[in-house]
Amino acid sequence: EEAGPDYGRLQWRIAIGFVLGLVAGIVTYTFAGDAEWLDWIVTYVTNPIGQIFLRLLFMLVIPLLVSALVVGIADMGEIRALKKVGIRTLIYTVIVSSIAVAISIAVTDFIQPGAGVDPAEARALLAEGGEGARGIIERSSEAKTGVEAVIGLIPSNVITAMGDNDILAVMFFALFFGIGLLITNSPRTATVKQAFEGVFEVSMKLIGLVIRLAPIAVFCFMFNLSAQFGWDLLIKLAAFVAVVLLALGLQLFGVFPLILTFFARKNPVTFFRETREASVMAFSTSSSNASLPTALRVAETRLMLPPRISRFVLTIGATANQNGTAMFEGVTVLFLAQFFGVDLSLGDQIFVMLVCILAGIGTAGVPGGSLPVIALILGGVGVPPEGIGLILGVDRFLDMCRTVLNVIGDLVAATVISAYSSDVGEVPAPSS
Ligand code: ASP
Repeated sequence: EEAGPDYGRLQWRIAIGFVLGLVAGIVTYTFAGDAEWLDWIVTYVTNPIGQIFLRLLFMLVIPLLVSALVVGIADMGEIRALKKVGIRTLIYTVIVSSIAVAISIAVTDFIQPGAGVDPAEARALLAEGGEGARGIIERSSEAKTGVEAVIGLIPSNVITAMGDNDILAVMFFALFFGIGLLITNSPRTATVKQAFEGVFEVSMKLIGLVIRLAPIAVFCFMFNLSAQFGWDLLIKLAAFVAVVLLALGLQLFGVFPLILTFFARKNPVTFFRETREASVMAFSTSSSNASLPTALRVAETRLMLPPRISRFVLTIGATANQNGTAMFEGVTVLFLAQFFGVDLSLGDQIFVMLVCILAGIGTAGVPGGSLPVIALILGGVGVPPEGIGLILGVDRFLDMCRTVLNVIGDLVAATVISAYSSDVGEVPAPSS
């Protein structure tokens, strides 16, 4: 689903569901917080509807994530002569995404935007809504020692890993398989790659259908939460938005300028001026994919980058290098853990970090692409995935902001990799 008028309409419906659910919930909280019928509604109406929506999303996550990751990695080496550039892009992406995620986790840990909710209420909510959610996805990182956790990254059986929803192990397999495709390069493997592209397309289409249910699901989530938390919820939500913006700002105006100055000898102010058109496009479409043509033009006509390298890096980066998305996912997961009073151990936080780095590579460059991935990570660390309902309500705006980072991050990558790729020489243009 590309950004379009349809997506805009859907976002409006989601916003309306959000507001109505919030108002209904707060009214209930104020006048009938202890009423028996509230229990009944939560148990038989709002909770089941929310669960159905989440299960539909979860069902699609593994095919989506695996295919996106395999194709994302395999694309990096599609063209022989570009293999060097591809490997550099991969290394760059992993390093810079790690910095981004580390910033977002540090900021969220420090400010604690979700903390301070009454632990008893949070536990009550965990007991009600959380049970079913945890039934869907078993906690994958339970009580493992450091060594075990590292060994556990490598699945001994990928089907079992999928069955256990062991996302990291599944992602490891997808990564490994993608690298295998990248280095094999025969007509037969091209078919395999196409099949993965097909799986990706179908999963995206189906997610697009499921997302249409979001307005109703968001109403239910918001009602459940605000009927139990009242005004507290609004304040926490505002803090969440502020922390996401702060983290994104640090990367955009702190890390990117440093990278540009030290690794590409490029004046950051000039860079931001020259790439403004791409920022505007990213902000207004919320889609890295939809912004790609503009980013390509900006790279060639304003930044004056060598077309073949920048085309390659930007095309790959639109799906694979998503700093803003990785950061958003980190903040969101920690925020919701704080909100629901789930203590994340150091091991859990490292798990979140690794997943967010990989998720930056595996998230599709379309509006709302982060959401299914977040739902999955939440389950993985034992946070009720209903929390996603909170996020959906403010997602449109945050999506616009993080997409700017995704796209500008690709242009930074293209600038830096161009500066380091004088050895590659004349290379053929990518096929897409
Ligand atoms: N909208 C983002 C993009 O296209 C993906 C996401 O984080 O939802 O880059």
